[in-house]
Order: sequence, then structure tokens, then C-alpha cells
Amino acid sequence: MADLQLDDVTKVFTEDDGNEITAVNEVSLEIDDGEFLVLVGPSGCGKSTTLRMVAGLETVSAGRIRLGDTVVNDMKPKDRDIAMVFQSYALYPHMTVRENMSFGLEESTSMPDEEITATVDQAAEMLGIGELLDRKPDDLSGGQQQRVALGRAIVRDPEVFLLDEPLSNLDAKLRAQMRTELQRLQEDLGVSTIYVTHDQTEAMTMADKIAILNHGELQQVGTPLECYHEPANRFVAGFIGEPSMNFFDVTRDGEALVHEQFEYELSPETASAVDGHGDLVLGIRPEDVAVRSSYDEPHSYDATVDVVEPMGNENNVYLTFDGSDETFVATIDGLQHVEDGQSVVAHIPEAAIHVFDRKTGRALRNRTVDTQTMTEPQI
Ligand code: ATP
Repeated sequence: MADLQLDDVTKVFTEDDGNEITAVNEVSLEIDDGEFLVLVGPSGCGKSTTLRMVAGLETVSAGRIRLGDTVVNDMKPKDRDIAMVFQSYALYPHMTVRENMSFGLEESTSMPDEEITATVDQAAEMLGIGELLDRKPDDLSGGQQQRVALGRAIVRDPEVFLLDEPLSNLDAKLRAQMRTELQRLQEDLGVSTIYVTHDQTEAMTMADKIAILNHGELQQVGTPLECYHEPANRFVAGFIGEPSMNFFDVTRDGEALVHEQFEYELSPETASAVDGHGDLVLGIRPEDVAVRSSYDEPHSYDATVDVVEPMGNENNVYLTFDGSDETFVATIDGLQHVEDGQSVVAHIPEAAIHVFDRKTGRALRNRTVDTQTMTEPQI
């Protein structure tokens, strides 16, 4: 049974002028015991509102939130067995680290003082902040404050952790380090977690399961690799992955997809997957576009290098088809040398293409993934 379940949860805000905003629209989610679910989406898509409803900081307009067997819609935040960590950390500035971490236990439990001290010591040890217990938040770095905020949640030993963009105030290097630490910590503690972020890298690297929201609506729930390779729609395909998937507006003509600059012949299998749809979008991930000097295979087209972004391990090569200003990107090996203005051949292999209905955005055909090579260790 799911540890935490959202059934058709909706939140409508009414503004002063009577205008209604549906921030979250019939979202259903299940978080299993010990699972790490990342709720991801662009700014304003309803992530924080969803989390705040689970915490009890926002009322639910419709639908049900269940924690274990109990519907918690009308339960006060303090009565839900949930601990939340905010983006701002929300530490009390006049209290020491120990006092910040003890406060919740002193206020809402009958735990004896010695046990509180021992619990705080143990959590501080786990987080590597044992030396800082007598300091005030102002005397701590951002990363240390972040650990204290986590410590305060951990000592409560809750059934569910809710984390709202907890790493966004940290610099890039510390963020990457904290990502790994947080994952390890969550795994050790085995507490079901919802982690909210707008950063798709955090979603991909940390999640057991990703839930993608847009305009208050759930777009897809799946493992990071499912969302990456088998996006439910064009929004998910564009949101997950950096650089983003390339999209080309195309029209079906017989056994081909016709773009202003190229014609893409389809195999009977792909053609039948898109049958009945005329206006389509062809998608291809940057790492699936090969940049070559000659036509070795079908699905190869003349292109010109617009800009090369060297990343060291790889190059992001921005290309244009001849006769067009629209750029698309290929991610190639860092040692493959190409120059701005160079004429090349771009190869778009059919096994790697995605095709979406242009009107609904629904994926009609996703790339073929050899699950064997994904799951079996390669020697
Ligand atoms: P961000 O990543 O920017 O924090 P978010 O995905 O967490 O965004 P929410 O804060 O949940 O988005 O907001 C969702 C929508 O609800 C937005 O359109 C927002 O303007 C609106 N909203 C949020 N809180 C209120 C409120 N108290 N009154 C009216 N509208 C609100």
C-alpha cells in the first residue's frame, strides 16, 4: 500500500477581485514506503502548492490526501506525521543550532530532555555538524544552514519528508555534493520523500520516481529513464534533458515526414505508429544527432555549423539546415573537431526519433530503447 496517496487533488485560489486560479488540477500520485519522489516543473506549475497541501499549510479544494490509511485533508499540520524543509531553511536566528534542532521535539512531543539531547547529537553527527551545535545560524555557511534545516526534520523521525527546493540557495558545486548526500541520507533513513524542484538535473539524478507538472496538471509519472526515453508528450520531452530535445514541425506525406528543409523517410513500423495524424513534430535528442563529413547512411542532411560550445568532455554543436536560420543542436564527443561555419552532414537515426501530435502534444512514437543494454552491466 502506498505510504502517501493523492487522489484527484485540486487547489483553486480565489483572488480579491473574485478571479479563480486553478493552481493544481486533479493530481493523483502515489508514494510508496521509502520512495524518493521528485515533483518537477517550471515556475508557477503548482509544485509548492501541492507540497503545502500535503503538509497541511494549504487547504484542499477537492480530492483526498491519504497518509497510510488515514485521510488527512482536515488534519492540522502538527498532527500529520510529516516534516518539511523549506527553501529559505526558516531557522530561528536567535537560537543555537542545538536549540533549532530541539525546538520541534520540545514543543510537540513529550520526549524527555536527555532523549532530545541524544537524538539531536545523533542527527548532527549523521549530518557532519556535531561541532556546530553551539553556533547561531548567522555564523554558518549556506551549506551548514541547509544541514541544520535537514537535521531539524530528521530528529522528528517523520513518516514523510517534504523538501521544497532545499538546495537552490547553494552554489553549483555544493549543490552537486548535497544532492548525493541527501540521496544517501534518505536511503539510510528509509523515509518516504517528496522533493520539489524546477531543476530537471536534480530530478534525473535523485529520484526513484519523477512526477512532472505543467500548469497545475500532472504530465507523467515514471522513473527518470522512462521520462527521458519514453516521454508521454512533447512538454515532458522538452523539459527533461539538457540541452533540450530538438523539435521540427513536419507534415505527414505518404511514407515521409516533410519539413521545410528536409524530407524524412519512415519505415513501415514508424509510419503505422503515426497513422491518422497529419501535423506532427519530429523530436531528436542532441546526443542522437551525429555530425559527419559525408553521407554514410539514409536520414543524413546537409547542415552548417553555427556555433560550437566546447564543454571539455563533449561539444554542443549548434547547426542550421541550408536555407534556414532555425538552429538545432548535436552533442558530440569533445575530441571531435568541428569549426564555426563548417559544412557538415547531420545524421538523424530513425531508431532515436520521437514523433508527437502537433495539436495535442501526445507522443505517438518514442525512441527504441534496448532495455537489455540499459539493465545488464557491460564488460
Ligand atoms: P515556483 O517554482 O515559482 O515556486 P510553483 O510550481 O511552486 O512555482 P506554486 O507556488 O504552487 O508554483 O503556484 C502555482 C500557481 O498558483 C501560480 O500561478 C501562483 O501564482 C498561484 N498561487 C500560489 N499561491 C497563491 C495564492 N495564495 N493566491 C493566489 N494564487 C496563488
